[in-house]
Amino acid sequence: MNRGAARNGRCDDREREGRENRFVRGVAQVKRDVRLAKFLLLAVIVSVSAATGWQLYASRDQTLAAADTNNLNLANALNIYAEGVFTQSDMLLQGVAETLKGEGDEPERLQRVQSLVERQKRLLDQLDGLAVLDAQGNWLMYSKGRIPPGTNSANRAYFIHHRETRSNDVLISPPIRNPFTGEWGITVSRRLDDAEGRFAGVVVIGLGLQNFLRAFGTIALPGTGTIGLTTNHGQMLVLYPYSEKAIGLDFSGSANFQRHFGGTSGTASFRSSIDGMKRLYAFRKSDRYPVLTTVALGRDEALKAWRHQALLTIGVVGALLAIVAAVGWRLIVNIQRRISAEASLLAAREDLLRANRRLEVLATQDQLTGLANRRSFDEVLAHECRRAAREGTALSLLLLDLDYFKRFNDAYGHVAGDQCLKAVATALRRSARRPGDLVARYGGEELAVVLPRTDLPGARKVAEQILAQVLALDIPHSASQHGQVTVSIGVAALEARHSDEPEQLLVEAADRALYKAKESGRNRAVSEEEFADA
Ligand code: GH3
Ligand code: MG
Ligand code: MG
Repeated sequence: MNRGAARNGRCDDREREGRENRFVRGVAQVKRDVRLAKFLLLAVIVSVSAATGWQLYASRDQTLAAADTNNLNLANALNIYAEGVFTQSDMLLQGVAETLKGEGDEPERLQRVQSLVERQKRLLDQLDGLAVLDAQGNWLMYSKGRIPPGTNSANRAYFIHHRETRSNDVLISPPIRNPFTGEWGITVSRRLDDAEGRFAGVVVIGLGLQNFLRAFGTIALPGTGTIGLTTNHGQMLVLYPYSEKAIGLDFSGSANFQRHFGGTSGTASFRSSIDGMKRLYAFRKSDRYPVLTTVALGRDEALKAWRHQALLTIGVVGALLAIVAAVGWRLIVNIQRRISAEASLLAAREDLLRANRRLEVLATQDQLTGLANRRSFDEVLAHECRRAAREGTALSLLLLDLDYFKRFNDAYGHVAGDQCLKAVATALRRSARRPGDLVARYGGEELAVVLPRTDLPGARKVAEQILAQVLALDIPHSASQHGQVTVSIGVAALEARHSDEPEQLLVEAADRALYKAKESGRNRAVSEEEFADA
């Protein structure tokens, strides 16, 4: 084989190996980068989603807290209003009680009461009417007109309460229908005592529900919002917006009422037992009267603006994340595609190089013996001749021919002949193994050995070794006078000075020597004398 080419081949191999290693390292790096990019993409999506979710959750809480604060403020203001109404009623009741204790006979005193009510009416919008009842529950006076004979309220809860209780405190009662007008109202009443402190009757004020509702109606409440006035025990007095169903409802047994309306004021969120609606409640208890004011807002309505904003945010952030994810994924897929394309390119190149190397070997090697072929021999011999001339060194050539090989084939068959040829080639390789030595199949059963930097004596030594090695193979050859396979060798050497075509001269000289070896009995090496100038 051409050794220069081989050397170049080795350089190419190292370079290629380096390139491949760099490529493999590069691919591993890119794969790590791809993993990192995937992780980053996921991290961005998860963290942005989490941050958005957290922000939405926090703003929802803020919205609910703001609604609670508004409700509570409103409940406080309405409590002051309700207290005002009850204080006015209380003062009027006291005034009436005082007037009834005053000078004159009963009709006179009742007349004075009537004018007191007339005066106070302007100050108390809610006042529907005022009645004075004697100790038996008979109506003595009614501010709004004549009393039908026999009108008696002894069976009313407020009357029974005052008759049984010595206190002069006012009593606020659940809604009842006015016995004359049939309209709903709540009563505020007080006990009357005679001079000896005995029960002398009741003075009662009717406060029209419609009047309360009108006052509450001036407050703007969204959709399902409600305002309620309740006794501390949970007896519904007024509910705005008006609902027939809600009048007089008793929440004293309700779990929500007991659980959420415990303190002086507060907020809570629960489902209304009246309409099943989830609401945000705020309540305020009066310090002076046993009533509490509630303001409630539909939870859905309170969160309406927030929900709108949240949907918008989710839409925008979601769209942005989708774009980031799509672009990021596209990039990652592209990188992966490029890596696999480069890998298959590398594999294809590898295959090509392997095929090339195989072709190179096929082009320079003999198939049967594995030795260099004739073409390779010609190239190397020419190259070595030029080098010998350039460097002024010696160069020798051995030409070998198997003895009586035709007969061997005839005797043992062609396949055995091939095996024999292979065995001799191996023996030759063992004998000529200095770097630079080349063993080739010259043609048929003729072999050649090129021995650079070797003079004739040196070449002869190699030839002798070969003869010995072939004999040592001990391949039987019955048709030969030696009884075993032998070779004849022609040895020739080229000295520094030479003609134009030294390789041809060298081959011819070796051939001549070989011929002589055959002639002189075979199984021997004969050398052509050195030649300088032809
Ligand atoms: P000599 O001692 O004079 O060389 O006798 P020889 O029979 O060897 O004569 P020659 O060199 O002219 O014969 C060449 C023979 O070698 C012809 C052929 O049968 C045989 N031969 C050539 N190449 C091959 C081969 O590749 N395989 C086999 N089996 N035989 C080969
Ligand atoms: Mg021959
Ligand atoms: Mg022969």
